Amino acid sequence: QAILHDYAARSPSSRAAFLAAAEVLPGGDTRTMTTYTPYPLYFDTGEGAQVRDVDGNRYLDVLSNYGALVHGHNHPALVAAVREQAGLGTALGGPGPLQIRHAERLCARVPALERVRYCNSGTEATMWAIRTARAFTGRDVIVKIDGGYHGTHDWGHVSAFVTSGPSFPQRLPGLPDARLAQGVPRAVLECVVTVPFNDLDAARRVLRAYRGEVAGFLVEPMLGVGGGVPAEPGYLEGLRTATEREGALLILDECATFRVGPWQVRHDLRPDLSTFSKIIGGGLPIGVFGGRADVMAIFDPSGRDPVYHASAFGANNLSLAAGIAALDHFGPGDIDRLNAMGGRLRALLDEAARERGVTGHAVGAGSLGYFHFGAERPRDAAGTAALRRGREDLRALLHLHLLNQGFLTARHGLLCLSLPMDDADVAAFAAAFGHALDTLR
Ligand code: PLP
Repeated sequence: QAILHDYAARSPSSRAAFLAAAEVLPGGDTRTMTTYTPYPLYFDTGEGAQVRDVDGNRYLDVLSNYGALVHGHNHPALVAAVREQAGLGTALGGPGPLQIRHAERLCARVPALERVRYCNSGTEATMWAIRTARAFTGRDVIVKIDGGYHGTHDWGHVSAFVTSGPSFPQRLPGLPDARLAQGVPRAVLECVVTVPFNDLDAARRVLRAYRGEVAGFLVEPMLGVGGGVPAEPGYLEGLRTATEREGALLILDECATFRVGPWQVRHDLRPDLSTFSKIIGGGLPIGVFGGRADVMAIFDPSGRDPVYHASAFGANNLSLAAGIAALDHFGPGDIDRLNAMGGRLRALLDEAARERGVTGHAVGAGSLGYFHFGAERPRDAAGTAALRRGREDLRALLHLHLLNQGFLTARHGLLCLSLPMDDADVAAFAAAFGHALDTLR
C-alpha cells in the first residue's frame, strides 16, 4: 500500500496522461511491454543516463529503451550527426554513400557479415533473415527457440507469446485458430517448430526429424525477453555443426547482443545469417540482416530470379548518420568497460539478496542483466516462466519501489547499462535495490 501510495503521490501528471492516452490508444500506450499497473510513467526528456517524467521526476535509466540505446540520451556526437543530416535530406530515393560507410563498419566488426541489407527494425531484420533462408534453401520449416523473441512478425510471434507452435514430435493436430494464436495463421504455425533453449539433443532431434525441410534455425545467443538466459558453452557451436550437417542456415539474432560483443565475435562463431538493430542506429530505427555472400546474392537484381526486397525508409540517411556516429563512439574499450560494469552490477545484486536472506539471483551477460526471485538458475524460457509464476506481484512492487527511488527498470526484470554511467551509478542502483528488498521483506 505504501509503495502504491508513494507512486501515486509523485506521478499525478502521468496518471492524467494515462487517462487521456486511453481515449486514443488501447490501454493507454503503444507498446505492450512499456505498459504496467497501476499506470505507466510518461516521460518527456532524457539527458545522459537520466530520463525525466512528465511530473518532473528524474530517473537513472537502467533500461536504455529495453536495450535499444547504449549512448544514453542526447549524446552530443549523435545529436550533431542527426542535426547535420536532417538539413541534407533524410531519404533521397536512391542509394547514397552513408549506407556504404555504415555497412563497411558493420562488416569490419563482424567477420561473418560478408553482405548486408537494411530495413527499419529488428522485427523486419529477423523476418527478412527467415525469408532469405527459405528462398535460398527452397525449404519451408523454421526452427526457433521456445520463448525466443525476435520481434512481432508472424514467425517470431510463435512461442514468444503464442506457445502453441508444433513441438516435436507432434506436428499438426491441436493448433489453435488465428484468433486464439494472437492472429498468427495456422499456415505459419505449421511451419515453425520450437525447441527448448540450451538443449542440443532436442535441436539435433528436430533437425533430423525434419530432414530436408528446415530452411533455418533462428536463435538469440541470450534469451532476452525469455529472462536473460545466456547460451551455455558449446550450445551455439553445436547448433553450428548440426545445422550445417542438415543443410539448414543458422540465423543468429544479435539485435540485443551487439552491445555485448557482438556475441559471435566474442565467441568466434560464424552463423550463416545474422540480424542487428537497436544500438547500431544511434537512437533511430534501423534493422540489418546479412551474412554469407553466396546466400545474400539472392538479392542481387542482376542474378537469376532475384528476391525482391524493398523498404521506403530502409537505409534512410538519418538512421545511417546516427548509426555511423553511434558505431564510431562505441569501440572495444567501451564494450569492455560496460560489460565489466554489468558484471559488477550482477555481483552487487547477488550480494544484496544474500545479505538479506532473499532467494534470488542476477543473470545475463555483459551490460545486459536480469534479476530473478527464486533459487534455480533458468536454462531456458520454461525455467524463467517457472521462476516468474506466482511472483508477479512481488516483481511489480520491486519495479514500483525502484521507480519511487528514482531508478527506471523493466517490470519483467531487464537491467541495461549505458555509456554515461559509472560505478557510482551502479552502486547507487544496488543500494536502492537492497532498500527495495528490505521493504518487500
Ligand atoms: N530480436 C531481438 C533479440 C530483440 O531483442 C528485439 C527487440 O527487443 C527484436 C528482435 C525486435 O526488434 P524491434 O523491436 O526493433 O522490432
